[in-house]
Order: sequence, then structure tokens, then C-alpha cells
Amino acid sequence: MKLIPEIQSAQGEIQTLRRTIHAHPELRYEETHTSELVASKLAEWGIEVHRGLGKTGVVGVLKRGNGARSVGLRADMDALPVQELNTFEHRSRNEGKMHACGHDGHTAMLLGAAQYLARHGQFDGTIVFIFQPAEEGGAGAKAMIKDGLFDRFPVDAVFGIHNWPGMPAGYFGVTEGPIMASSNEFRIVITGVGSHAALPHNGRDPVFTAVQIANGLQSIITRNKKPLDTAVLSITQIHAGDAVNVVPNEAWIAGTVRTFTTETLDLIESRLRKIAESTADAYDCSVEISFLRNYPPTVNSSAETQFAVEVMRELAGDDCVNANVEPTMGAEDFSFMLLEKPGCYAFLGNGDGGHREAGHGAGPCMLHNASYDFNDQLLPVGSSYWVQLATKFLARQ
Ligand SMILES: [Zn+2]
Ligand SMILES: [Zn+2]
Repeated sequence: MKLIPEIQSAQGEIQTLRRTIHAHPELRYEETHTSELVASKLAEWGIEVHRGLGKTGVVGVLKRGNGARSVGLRADMDALPVQELNTFEHRSRNEGKMHACGHDGHTAMLLGAAQYLARHGQFDGTIVFIFQPAEEGGAGAKAMIKDGLFDRFPVDAVFGIHNWPGMPAGYFGVTEGPIMASSNEFRIVITGVGSHAALPHNGRDPVFTAVQIANGLQSIITRNKKPLDTAVLSITQIHAGDAVNVVPNEAWIAGTVRTFTTETLDLIESRLRKIAESTADAYDCSVEISFLRNYPPTVNSSAETQFAVEVMRELAGDDCVNANVEPTMGAEDFSFMLLEKPGCYAFLGNGDGGHREAGHGAGPCMLHNASYDFNDQLLPVGSSYWVQLATKFLARQ
């Protein structure tokens, strides 16, 4: 591991920032104290600060020389509505809120890089530090873009990192093309005519119809989608009725769909609508369907991914970089940035959980778990990666 010595010596300071953020988690679009801390640190280091993009987002701009090239580095700042089980010193002070996805670490790693680049950075061009709100279900990246992120601060490419529990600490995992899935939710409301349960011929049964639709929807995955195209359709809710002797008027089904391409998603949505409508029609019920496309797939562009892999290999060594990591069906709103700009989103191993101090909640150190903690050993790795990536990117023609 070829860490930058100045970053290694600043590790204590960056760790203090990480733990301060961990102790004071804020939910999506409420990151007022976190964004204040980020903005004040950037300003202290002489970086130009812009606030209020996507409500609580912060942008730092560091320009040197006359170079026309520019690069965007992105971290997320929001926490989750989870009651932390850890009891160590930097545990959450905010009831029911926790940095259970490591965004505290992502913010600290990017701050560590910003500090180094402001003090020692040798480059020609512009580095745009993007601290976004509301990654957890709030599409904060989209909100920042809507507020002019890339119009006001144009970049040639944009890069992101997420810590990855289970992967050895400091290892990098990345792949060209889709690395995370699109996330979508649907709800199908079936309306029939209620009746006495002993006299079903007097009504039109929405419960029976819901079950037929639920069965039929899995045929999309097994019969319509190409076997080599990845997709998941999970029905997670079926609700109807209040009494054993009454057929209700209404039933509803809800669930999630995940895909790696928009084409597969288009196919699934159109088949879902057809199966639900036709099945309801067959049983004389009516349906109302809502299909929400939350996050698009996160798709890494080829040239930027190859470039990021070069930087990772130089930093961590070939053995610590998996350039063909298995994509996950989870989703990430960095995808919205990758719809606008080429770029690369990578995983940084968070280890097996052994880094946690005494007083951890005894649960697994997995993302969104109440016993999770970001691994502070990654701080100099992530910060060094950001510095090398930005410096080398701006030096390219
Ligand atoms: Zn998360
Ligand atoms: Zn996350």
C-alpha cells in the first residue's frame, strides 16, 4: 500500500472528524450540522465553498493553473433511521439515527483528500468536491443535479466510493458496466365486489385475483426476460380483508423490481401492467397500478473505470484490486451522476468487522446493521486514492 505520508500523518485528525460525524448522524435532507462541518473545514483549508445545492449539499472547488480539465469527487453525508446498538465512545448521540452505511467515513475520506490537495496538491485544473445529501432513498444526487451541480461546476468525469463490509480492508472492487441495480417499486390495487364468504358467487373476489396476479408476475422473470439478463421481482406485501367470513372489496400487492439495464426494466414494467390488467379483467375486477422508478442502474463507463483501476493498482498493488467484482442488486443514487457524466463507482473493503472496538453491538458489521461501524483504517486509503485519482486525471490529455 503506497499511502501518501502527509495523509498518514493527518490520520488522527481525519479520524476525529469521522467519529464526530458518526456521533451526530442526520437523516436525509436534514444534514445541517454535517454540511456546516464540511463547509467550515473546506473554507478553513482555503477551498471555495458553495452551499444549498439539493438543500443541504456542499460543493468545494479547488482550482490551480489554467488547465481546462476538471474532475468531480463525490461523498454522501446522510445517516439512517436505525437505533445504534454500539456503546463505544463515538456511538450516535441522536436517538433513532445512525451512520449505519458508513457515509461518515465517505465524508471524512473526501475531507482528508481535500485538506491534502489544498495544502500540497500539484495539479493543473479544477477539482470539484461533491458532498451530497440524502443518498438513502432521497435521491440527493438528483436534487443536486437539478440545482445546477454540473452546469455551475462542470466536470469531465465523476467518481464515487462506497465501503464494502466482507471485502478485506483496503481492497478495491470495481467493474465496468453495471455495478449496482436499478431500484423500483410497484403497487397494484385490485378492486372487486365484496360478499359474504359463504356466497362468493354474489361478488367478484379481489383476494383470489390478487393471488393469480402474484403468481403470474413471476412468469416475467422466468418466461419473458432473457435468461442472461439479470433481474429480480419480489412481492413483499399482499394485503386484504378484515374478517374470515367476508370477501373484501379490495386487495393490494406491492413489491420491488431490480435490473441492471433500463431495457429490461421497460420490459418488466410493461409485462407487469399487462398481466395485472388482463388477469383482473378475466376475473371481473379492476386494477390501479403505480410503478415508481426510484434509482436507475449504476453503470460505470469503460475508460474511466480502466483509469480508476490503474490508480487503485498503483496505490494498493495488483493483488488488492478486483477489477471484475460481482455487481450487487442493491442500488445507489450516484447512478444519477453517471447518467450525466462518465465516471466510476467503486467498493473499498471494510474488513470483517474485527476493527470494531469493545462495546460494539455484537451484531454483524454489515451495512444498515445496528452494530456496524466504518473501519478507520480505510481513511488514509480512501483519501490517498482520491488524491492520486484527481491528480492523475487532471494530468491526462
Ligand atoms: Zn445505505
Ligand atoms: Zn451507503
